[in-house]
Amino acid sequence: MFAIQSDMFRIPEIIQKKRDGGELSREELETLVLGGMRGEVPDYQVAAWLMAVYFRGMTSQETATLTAILQHSGQQIRLPALGKPVLDKHSTGGVGDKTSLVLVPLLAACGVAVPKMSGRGLGFTGGTVDKLESIPGFRTDFTAEQIAALVQQTGACMVGQSPDLVPADKYLYALRDVTATVDCIPLIAASVMSKKLAGGADYILLDVKTGCGAFMPSLSDAMELAQTLVEIGEAAGRHTMALVTDMSQPLGEAVGNALEVAEAIRVLQGKAGTTSARFETLCIELAAHALLLVGKEPNLSLARERARECLREGDALRAFRRIVEAQQGDPNVTDDLSLLPQAPVIRAVLLSQVGYIHAVDARKVGLLAVRLGAGRSRKDETVDHAVGIRLLRHVGDHVEPSLPVAEVHARSEEMADQVAAELQTCFEVGEGSPRFQPLVYAVLPETR
Ligand code: URA
Repeated sequence: MFAIQSDMFRIPEIIQKKRDGGELSREELETLVLGGMRGEVPDYQVAAWLMAVYFRGMTSQETATLTAILQHSGQQIRLPALGKPVLDKHSTGGVGDKTSLVLVPLLAACGVAVPKMSGRGLGFTGGTVDKLESIPGFRTDFTAEQIAALVQQTGACMVGQSPDLVPADKYLYALRDVTATVDCIPLIAASVMSKKLAGGADYILLDVKTGCGAFMPSLSDAMELAQTLVEIGEAAGRHTMALVTDMSQPLGEAVGNALEVAEAIRVLQGKAGTTSARFETLCIELAAHALLLVGKEPNLSLARERARECLREGDALRAFRRIVEAQQGDPNVTDDLSLLPQAPVIRAVLLSQVGYIHAVDARKVGLLAVRLGAGRSRKDETVDHAVGIRLLRHVGDHVEPSLPVAEVHARSEEMADQVAAELQTCFEVGEGSPRFQPLVYAVLPETR
C-alpha cells in the first residue's frame, strides 16, 4: 500500500518527464501501464501520458520496454517441440485483405507451423476472425493450451486472441481508442509486437500496408512502422521480416466476410480469375519471404516456385481443409462454396464512362462494406457474414458502360441501390493507362 501511494505521488512527474521529451524507465512505464490496468492509477493520468507520447514519441529503448511490459502482462503461449520452424504472421490490415486465409495453410503445407491469432474487424478494415466465422460451425475461441494442441495436430490454426494474452494491451488500446492516440507509431508497434512475442513464434512475418485503404496511408509512416516492428522483434531475439505492401486499392475482388472466404478458397483451388491476380501474387510473395526467413528455401525464386507448386498440387487446399475440420467447421466448403452464407440481393454496378480505371478508393469501398453490415463501426456490433462487395475491375482495367465494374451483395433491395450508387463514385476513370502501382514497396531488413 505504501509503495503504491508513493508511486501515485510520482505520476505527475512521470507524465511531465514525457511531456518535456524525456525517456521513461521500465519502472516508470510499469507504474503507469500496469498501475492503470489494475485500477491503481486513474485513466486520466494514463491518458495524459498517452497524449504526451503521441506528441513526443518514444525512444527505441522505451518502445522495446513498453512492448515487453505488455507482453508479460498475461499468459505466454508455449508450443511443444514440433521439429519444424514456428512462424507467426501479422498484417496491419486493409480492405479485402484475406491473405491469412491462404498463407496459413500454404505455409503449413510447406512444413512451417503457424499459430495464427487474429482480431475482428473494426472500421473500414475487416478482421480474419469474422471472415472465418462465415464457415458454418467454425470455432475461433480457444485457450492457450488448446491453441498449442491444434498446432500440434494440424500444423497450424487460425483463432481469435486467447483472452489471457496481453491484458495490458487491451486496457491501453481501449484508452487510446477514446483519446485519439491510436495512430502513433511507437504505440502501434508495442501493441502489435507484444501480441506476436507472447504468441511464442520464433519467426515473425509482418505485412505493413500503405495507401488509402490502410491504417497508415503514407508510405513514409508505413516504412517507419515496419522498421520499428522489425527492430522490436530482432531485439527480442525473434527473426523478424516486414514487407511494406500496397493498399491503395482493395486487395483482390472480394470485400466482405463469406465473399472473401470464397475468394481465398478459389485461390487455394487454383481456380481464381484475373480479378484475384494481385491478391494471389501477394500471397505467393508473403509465402516466399516466409520460406526464406525460416530457411526452408535458399533464395526467393525457389521459394516462389515452392509456394506456387503447393497451390498447384492442392497441398495448401488440403491443409486448409484440415484446419477447418480441426476447428469444427464444415470441411465441405472447400469443395462447395454454396455452403457459405449468401446474400439475398445481388446488384451489378456499371459506370457511364469509357476509359481506364485510374483509382479505386479502398477506404470508401471498406466503409460501404461496413454500411452493408459486413463490418462494424462499434466494437459491440455483430456482422452479417453474407453481404459485401465484389470488385470486377481494378486499376488499369478498361471500362465501358456495358461492363459491370462491381457487384453489391446486400440484405435488401433498398440497401443494394444505395450502396451501388455510392460505389460508382469510388472509381476514378481516365483516358490513358494509369501509372503502374507496385504491390511490394519494400522488404525489411534490407540485407536478407
Ligand atoms: N493493431 C494493433 O494490434 N494495435 C494497434 O495499436 C493498432 C493496430
